Amino acid sequence: MSQTVENFRRLEAQVAAISPSAKILAVSKTFGMVAVRELYDAGVREFGESRLEELAQKHAALPKDIVWHFIGRLQANKVRKVIQFSQFIESVDSLSLLQRIDRIAGEEKLHVTCLLEVNVSGEASKTGFVPAEVAAVLAQASAMEHVTCAGLMTMAPLDADERELTQYFTALRDCRDRLRQASGLALPVLSMGMSNDFEIAARCGSTELRIGSLIFGARS
Ligand SMILES: *Cc1c(COP(=O)(O)O)cnc(C)c1O
Repeated sequence: MSQTVENFRRLEAQVAAISPSAKILAVSKTFGMVAVRELYDAGVREFGESRLEELAQKHAALPKDIVWHFIGRLQANKVRKVIQFSQFIESVDSLSLLQRIDRIAGEEKLHVTCLLEVNVSGEASKTGFVPAEVAAVLAQASAMEHVTCAGLMTMAPLDADERELTQYFTALRDCRDRLRQASGLALPVLSMGMSNDFEIAARCGSTELRIGSLIFGARS
């Protein structure tokens, strides 16, 4: 078994022991095709990328049944290209971006599943909606024909300690639960937790852990 596959299997076992409902999104950004292919051959089908150019290259070179999730900052002028390769966009951080994805997906006869990125820490450098904005965005989204909002995503500040991380991840889950009650939408996806905080996120109800370096090795 390759090191990458071994890392993935170990992580899967760790996650399963904490929360059987959390799945792993293998974040392959900056890592090479070989490692992605090894995971593919071991049965992994969902990968996360954060830059259009790299996504396009990997999409062209790797099997077509890979499901690519776009998890990076998405510039308006890249929407048309990104949705050719990725039917999941996890980093929708403004209503205008969501409206644009809906319009362009319609023009391209595609459908995109989106997550709304929420800034639960209030950290000024983080993008995303403040929790209080999300209900209004979801209400607008429910009238859009070419996008589905499947849930929420957050990135915790890198310097947060365990107590703060627990607080942020719990806040995102509570936000989702309130929105679910108020809107009647299912909002099944809570994308939170990365290599350094996945155990806490899994304990707080994450359904999708976005993990790169613990699987692929240190990013250079
Ligand atoms: C890079 C990245 C990850 C994965 O980070 P690791 O620390 O390597 O696990 C997760 N989410 C987003 C949005 C990222 O850009």
